[in-house]
Amino acid sequence: MERTFFIIKPDAVARGLVGQVIERIERRGFNLEALSMMTASPELIAQHYEHLADKPFFLLLVQYMTSGPVIAGILTGPEVIKSWRDMMGATNPLQALPGTIRGDFATAPVDGIVANVVHGSDSAEAAEREIGLWLGK
Ligand code: UDP
Ligand code: MG
Repeated sequence: MERTFFIIKPDAVARGLVGQVIERIERRGFNLEALSMMTASPELIAQHYEHLADKPFFLLLVQYMTSGPVIAGILTGPEVIKSWRDMMGATNPLQALPGTIRGDFATAPVDGIVANVVHGSDSAEAAEREIGLWLGK
């Protein structure tokens, strides 16, 4: 059994999409092990995305991710890390296929902000690091 870390990002919370995202998680059969609502600090986002710190979009990313409350949580289930990434779809909603969360709920970027509804850890190591950082578990 694997676990992963996920975020329902500020754009999705503001648009009232929390229920629809959670519904997809439950429909797929993954287990919600933890769920927390919070507004992230710039410091937390900078640590979370430290591997992107040198990217030109980093400041915009920090502004986006701190623009309002998020839902952060833990999912468990068989191969959940890859499965959740597949459910999310491509990073850029322009490339995300219909049927994925990003492909169903997000538009192409506007003014360089890739507001793409959800986050998911990309490896077991990232999941453990992110769960510790955000939830202390
Ligand atoms: N992002 C962005 N511009 C880019 C690439 C990424 O604003 O050119 C944002 C986007 O919100 C993305 C996040 O940075 O979800 C993290 O990027 P990553 O490459 O890790 O994509 P993800 O794992 O979220 O698909
Ligand atoms: Mg990533």
